[in-house]
Amino acid sequence: CPQNKTFHSLRPHVPLPPPSQPLSLPSYALSLLRTSSSSGETAFIVDATNDQTLSFSQFIPQIHSLAYSLKKNFSLSPNDVAFILSPPSFHVPLLYFALMALGIVVSPSNPLASESEIAHQVRISKPVIAFGTSKTSSKLPSLKHGTVLLDSPEFQSFLIQPNVNAVIFDSVEVNQHDTAAILYSSGTTGRVKGVMLSHLNIIALIAGYYHIPYTLQEAADEPHPVSFFTVPFFHVFGFFMLVRAFALGETLVFSERFDFEGMLRAIEKYKVTFMPVSPPLVVAFVKLELTKKYDLSSLLLLGSGGAPLGKEVTERFKEKFPTVELIQGYGLTETAGGATRVIGPEEAARHGSVGRLGENMEAKIVDPETGEALPPEQRGELWLRGPTVMKGYVGDERATAQTLDSEGWLRTGDICYFDSEGFLYIVDRLKELIKYKAYQVPPAELEHLLLSHPEIADAAVIPYPDEEAGQIPMAYVVRNPGRSITKAQVAPYKKIRRVAFVNSIPKSPAGKILRRELGYGLTETIGGA
Ligand code: AMP
Repeated sequence: CPQNKTFHSLRPHVPLPPPSQPLSLPSYALSLLRTSSSSGETAFIVDATNDQTLSFSQFIPQIHSLAYSLKKNFSLSPNDVAFILSPPSFHVPLLYFALMALGIVVSPSNPLASESEIAHQVRISKPVIAFGTSKTSSKLPSLKHGTVLLDSPEFQSFLIQPNVNAVIFDSVEVNQHDTAAILYSSGTTGRVKGVMLSHLNIIALIAGYYHIPYTLQEAADEPHPVSFFTVPFFHVFGFFMLVRAFALGETLVFSERFDFEGMLRAIEKYKVTFMPVSPPLVVAFVKLELTKKYDLSSLLLLGSGGAPLGKEVTERFKEKFPTVELIQGYGLTETAGGATRVIGPEEAARHGSVGRLGENMEAKIVDPETGEALPPEQRGELWLRGPTVMKGYVGDERATAQTLDSEGWLRTGDICYFDSEGFLYIVDRLKELIKYKAYQVPPAELEHLLLSHPEIADAAVIPYPDEEAGQIPMAYVVRNPGRSITKAQVAPYKKIRRVAFVNSIPKSPAGKILRRELGYGLTETIGGA
């Protein structure tokens, strides 16, 4: 709509359940699953590490049993928050579904997070119970209702309560506007915040995939869709793709420990048709000869997201795997996942674009200087509005108000443009965010740590381009006399991998770091990638 310069989704309107109807995300996903052609015996989830499989007819009673056990053993109330710190396993999706069905908010974090990162997350989301494993238990906070280990006999017994039926699911009335999940993101600036996603946010996203499938395989349902997950369950990408796979009756294969060759073996063995991936994995597919050792002929589609996928990489991928469609989506934790989609081979051929606006979504391209909404082909900050846009940042009204305006527009912090046919292109990042292999690295967090070092007078952290990782964190450091800074205080993926020592950090009169004025100058590289 060029007159008022608001872009509307070009997809047909997708019907959503009436918002006043009490409905949890798990109940909605189950209702969609009942309409799918998958039988109860279809495998829902497969652990490729040990070939263990749970069919839909095994998975669903375990959700009911777990919900029943959690209700019986812990006096949890709706809207309480549960903190989860676990490597991928069957138990994680079971836990998500059982907790959300009880109206309890799931808040998963990266099992590699450091203790201080976890302490910060716990301070903001205020969980009352923690779920972990024997590997992560030492990092779990002590909370009001204690800790449950997912690999303990106690948890195993929660999954096999006899004679539990779906009644437990319906005994708790969950409002669609209630928070279903708190996921962590630094947004456009500053430290990590807790993104509150409602049941409705994720229902709206899944509804789009259900009503408007990707025509290559999902609509035809032939062959049966089997995905291999390399994206983590705690990140928004893995989180919504997991719920989506369940709702659409697909098979999801994952591996507790990821390695490239193990993944290739799993593609061959389970006849994987589809993979949600981050760009570094596409680079690995292009570069590594190992791919030739395995039969990957079942693979139809790779969906990349989380960070930019270069046009050149896409083209090299298409040369090497001409029968595999490679599509790119774009989204944020703050939009519950994908805000754009690519549907069908014709749209997939638009290399470099992230597709068209998702169902029921609106967008504006706003000039960051003047605040003016811009027409197609002009670059500005992307603003998004629609049913998948988050409720806000938990306990942080200031950050919420800076990101979401009173009309419901979300400032993405990404510089983008639409072409005249509604395809979106991401060209730059306005916000302070580094994406190392699609993982978020907030510069403010690293600057805060650097400044706490007695030998550092001032510091600034910026993204440095890297072919394999996309970006690596690079620090500009003004030294007090002295040198070494080696202590690990962050998760490994946040490690500063490049340092330049400078005399001063350029700042605005208000003291804001002028990151764009920092060139890449003389640097020292620290450690391997
Ligand atoms: P997260 O909340 O971790 O998903 O990070 C969201 C941010 O990742 C977006 O605001 C973008 O800066 C970046 N991002 C996600 N997908 C893409 C993409 N396809 N191309 C470029 N940047 C992306």
